[in-house]
Amino acid sequence: MLNRLSDTIYYSSNEDDRERPTLGLVCGDRYSLVIDAGNSPQHAQDFLLEIENLDVPPVKYVVITHAHWDHFLGMNEFDATVIVNSQTNEMLKEWQHLSYDDRSLQKYVTANQMSPICMKVLQTDMPNRESFQLKSPDVIFENTLTINLGNKVCILERIKSTHTDDATIIYIPDEKVIFLGDCAYGTTINSLFHYKQSLLSPMIKDIQKYDAEMFLLGHESICDLNEMNVYWEELTAASQVVKSTSLENALESFEAVNIRNPNENELFFIKALVNDHIVQSQ
Ligand SMILES: [Zn+2]
Repeated sequence: MLNRLSDTIYYSSNEDDRERPTLGLVCGDRYSLVIDAGNSPQHAQDFLLEIENLDVPPVKYVVITHAHWDHFLGMNEFDATVIVNSQTNEMLKEWQHLSYDDRSLQKYVTANQMSPICMKVLQTDMPNRESFQLKSPDVIFENTLTINLGNKVCILERIKSTHTDDATIIYIPDEKVIFLGDCAYGTTINSLFHYKQSLLSPMIKDIQKYDAEMFLLGHESICDLNEMNVYWEELTAASQVVKSTSLENALESFEAVNIRNPNENELFFIKALVNDHIVQSQ
């Protein structure tokens, strides 16, 4: 069952055990728009089946929030216009040239080109994939794109992100809802989970300029404004004290500035931001 956020917005909950991110559906009077294409053709088909059970206009557009496999590998299943920003388009080209037979998948995993989880999901959810070829997106935009679904406008914007260089967010002004994809998360490089610190405050600015009350996140499903603000405050408080690869210095500085110890989230963020300094120094 899809979750119903309003008369015109639905979403599927993330399923962490199967690496399935949140998928979104925005419906206008004439057309519907899907946010993210799923982690496999099976994920996409499951979502399309849920949409069939609703009385909504046909899906005309699919927006991919960023070029991480779990958000786009179901793309071929949609008979719709697939929209990405230009950076996502560049990153997807690599996946269009891959072969998806078992031997090739194993080769990509060994070469660190593909995560073992991606291989496992494909092997489980996509038994016949010898001739699979990821299609290319239909519409490629640079910075922003506005889509009218019929009395329902969606604003797409490529924003700065601590997670990837190719983050697209989708804002629905008359509902005050924003789909963030994974943009507000950190990312893992060389086994180090980190937030790109230099992009944290530009990203928060990019997001906060929209008057939003509900936020859909790729692997959390939904947050209200208060929860989102707490997340930004904790991340910002952590970022203010991380200035080097030293965790000890960051923790001392946190206690001096805030006259308390960091809470569990702040400690997690501090460690991830220290990791960013380590990644940058490598
Ligand atoms: Zn991602």
